[in-house]
Amino acid sequence: MGNGFFQVPPATNEPVKSYAPGSPEREAVLKQYKAYYAGTADIPMTIGGREVRTGNTRRMAPPHEHGHTLGQYHLAGKKDVEAAIASSLQARQAWAALPWEHRAAVFLKAADLIAGPYRARINAATMLAQSKTVHQAEIDAACELIDFLRYNVEFMAGIYREQPESSDGIWNRVEYRPLEGFIYAITPFNFTAIAGNLPASAAMMGNVVVWKPSDHQIFSAQVIVEVFKEAGLPDGVINTVFGDPVMITDTLLTHPDFSGIHFTGSTEVFKAIWKKIGENIGTYKTYPRIVGETGGKDFIVAHPSADPQQVATAITRGAFELQGQKCSAASRVYLPKSTANTILERVKKDIASFRKPGSPADMGNFITAVIHEGSFDKLAGFIDRAKADKKAQIIAGGHYDKSVGYFIEPTVILTTDPHYVTMETELFGPVVTVYIYEDAQWDATLELIDKTSEYALTGAVLSTDRYAIDQATRALENCAGNFYINDKPTGAVVGQQPFGGARASGTNDKAGSAQNLLRWVSPRLIKETFVSPTDYRYPFLG
Ligand code: NAD
Repeated sequence: MGNGFFQVPPATNEPVKSYAPGSPEREAVLKQYKAYYAGTADIPMTIGGREVRTGNTRRMAPPHEHGHTLGQYHLAGKKDVEAAIASSLQARQAWAALPWEHRAAVFLKAADLIAGPYRARINAATMLAQSKTVHQAEIDAACELIDFLRYNVEFMAGIYREQPESSDGIWNRVEYRPLEGFIYAITPFNFTAIAGNLPASAAMMGNVVVWKPSDHQIFSAQVIVEVFKEAGLPDGVINTVFGDPVMITDTLLTHPDFSGIHFTGSTEVFKAIWKKIGENIGTYKTYPRIVGETGGKDFIVAHPSADPQQVATAITRGAFELQGQKCSAASRVYLPKSTANTILERVKKDIASFRKPGSPADMGNFITAVIHEGSFDKLAGFIDRAKADKKAQIIAGGHYDKSVGYFIEPTVILTTDPHYVTMETELFGPVVTVYIYEDAQWDATLELIDKTSEYALTGAVLSTDRYAIDQATRALENCAGNFYINDKPTGAVVGQQPFGGARASGTNDKAGSAQNLLRWVSPRLIKETFVSPTDYRYPFLG
């Protein structure tokens, strides 16, 4: 067998295509969108490389047109989950033993497939099933997923190169072993890239995975399954199971070979999972790795010196793109009294320039639908509460309509209470709450931001005063895992801004970084002595 220290192709960020009128990518994605829209998908689970259809199905519909049927997917029974565990463990030996360059090649090929022949498919599926505009689909489903795959290959090679020193007569080596058992990946609805990355990053490091996508992302999850298959991922390395999250999770977390969880979703669900892992700790062969990126209540704070137009743009983009359904979306804003009116007038003007929320197939729409009826009802409830509440005033938006799709107008709530419910609770929709502070209260406002929320995911300060920027950076040190200066708090790019938060926002293992990949390996140190001692006596005994 030939050997070598292989250099992986250097990773660079996938260029974002424009989808401008007349561009070939626009034509391709709309053609695919129409084809998916007209079809009736029947999505099986993939277990040990087999397509599993249980006949127990659930309907899929676009959030922006919930009366239209896109198809159905098949739900797992307990025995399907057990089969997924068995298939993963069966695949483990060969996959874990495969030289790393072959694992790298599978995922590099997957990245190239998404960049090329699958680009229109993964974007169109994400537009339809998750109601993303083409731009939001492109930066997520195509570009971010490609970046995760390519950068992670580079990070993996970097990890393997990390070796200890050796001294005279001995050679120290570290092997980065996959975890002993299987990994459970649970993914959210809002990013196709996260859905692909959570199972893939663990599998790349030699692990086998049972993956449960969100019920609301299965249409685009199936494109990921197809890509990995075409890229040559062996059967059983990543298995999908759909449906009842509690039954699936209980089955997986009570198995002795459970060795780690890679979760992204809400804080409440992650805490419940952590608790279950604790309750079952005596069952496992190894201490499981627990990695979870969860909710946020992300802030923008403007200093009196900040440019009002820049603050307004940070709010408009940071709060409303993807209908505010980014974990990083700005949802509480602190404005100084001296510039608040100018900033809010501009935000209102921006909102007035959006068209009414509509379908992503109409590319003039900036705002589309929220993901499902549960989310719609929750948001409508908070809007109604604000309408009735003396401490709150709706200064823009406030309308909603679910007759065709789950449409919520971008809404700005102004409150006189910095602890008003929508300043503290994660809403996960196009609703932002603003609190106006006295300019002289800048120091106290920073303290208020630090104390207001249990979360610490993202946050932004806007200022032209360097001392104020330095002060905010220090005062808000523990408020955000990703902190932005003079920018909106969203839009992290793999390889540039590794992403994750602390406090109730997650374990901060930074998706899209070597730090995350390190959670999926268990290093083994090998010390080899060339000439072994033959007498137990040390010189001091003499
Ligand atoms: P969710 O918590 O409702 O669902 C996430 C996943 O958990 C889904 O696959 C779901 O089926 C599963 N799930 C639900 N209940 C479960 C249970 N009882 N046991 C086990 N699994 C269960 O979240 P969502 O609505 O899909 O996504 C939105 C949430 O995700 C928001 O809170 C958002 O902030 C968070 N999020 C965080 C990040 C991050 O990087 N920090 C990124 C994206 C989304």
